[in-house]
Amino acid sequence: MRHAKYGEQNHADHVDGLAGVLRGRQVGAIETTTLDEPSEQAAFVRRQAAAARIPVVRAAAGERRRLGGLEWQLLWPPATPGALPDNGPNDASVVLLVRTAGLTFLLLGDLEPPAQRQLLATVPELPRVDVLKVAHHGSAYQDPALLSRLRPRLALISCGADNPYGHPAPRTLSALRAQGARVLRTDTDGTIAVTGDRADALRATLVGRAM
Ligand SMILES: [Zn+2]
Repeated sequence: MRHAKYGEQNHADHVDGLAGVLRGRQVGAIETTTLDEPSEQAAFVRRQAAAARIPVVRAAAGERRRLGGLEWQLLWPPATPGALPDNGPNDASVVLLVRTAGLTFLLLGDLEPPAQRQLLATVPELPRVDVLKVAHHGSAYQDPALLSRLRPRLALISCGADNPYGHPAPRTLSALRAQGARVLRTDTDGTIAVTGDRADALRATLVGRAM
């Protein structure tokens, strides 16, 4: 509750989908951020993992993995929670740079400006991306330097219909469009699948219709 400044207070969206993610899948490990906050939600994840006999490991910057045609690099959080900005769980979001099928994706979780700035400072080689999962449901708090570095072709915003937080913020939508991004959002566009097998064939499919 001490981080009301940037919105979200109960973070249900961080963990409540876990059962659905595990259902019907074989999962080798669950990676979590280095900050166990809120503590009851961290405990919820450990319980779910234990019940499903899935090991929980810490996600930390520096990890690189490849699985079939998917390659990812973990850019955030830093390995020690003490290196995080003192700004609550959102700034401990796991950030992934993903490459597959010739496309580059950056998933920023709920990162807020203090960590967005620190990310840019610690990963100065951060590339332009094809697809950006916009930080924190498209909230108004986006670091302009990070956005102009990323210049995504496609910006995806995950947010609830008629959410009480005002996500996404009009100024974030305009900032993304000003960088040349096409913006899609789950509240009005529904489920979004990004398809395409080459960097020049980037497509997004909304449930039932191709765009
Ligand atoms: Zn969130």
